Amino acid sequence: MECPRCLSPHVRRSHRVGFWETGFLTFFHYYPFRCRDCGHRYHHFHQSRNRSPKGHVTLFGLAQDILWVTGGVTLVLLWLWLRST
Ligand SMILES: [Zn+2]
Repeated sequence: MECPRCLSPHVRRSHRVGFWETGFLTFFHYYPFRCRDCGHRYHHFHQSRNRSPKGHVTLFGLAQDILWVTGGVTLVLLWLWLRST
């Protein structure tokens, strides 16, 4: 990866600051980077494979949550329906 300003290869991950970077950008795998040569700070798409930190929302995890909730609602409705008949 190169710095978009000076094309230096000496870039490193920067600390995430604020809700915008810790929440929204992390969700879309955008991470802040900083160039060690010119100090330019920028965001770059960075897919982290085989790593799912706690509290990190993935699309798969979200789908699982939705399935759990809809499954639970279906069971409750079924239970209510069985009781009413
Ligand atoms: Zn640079």
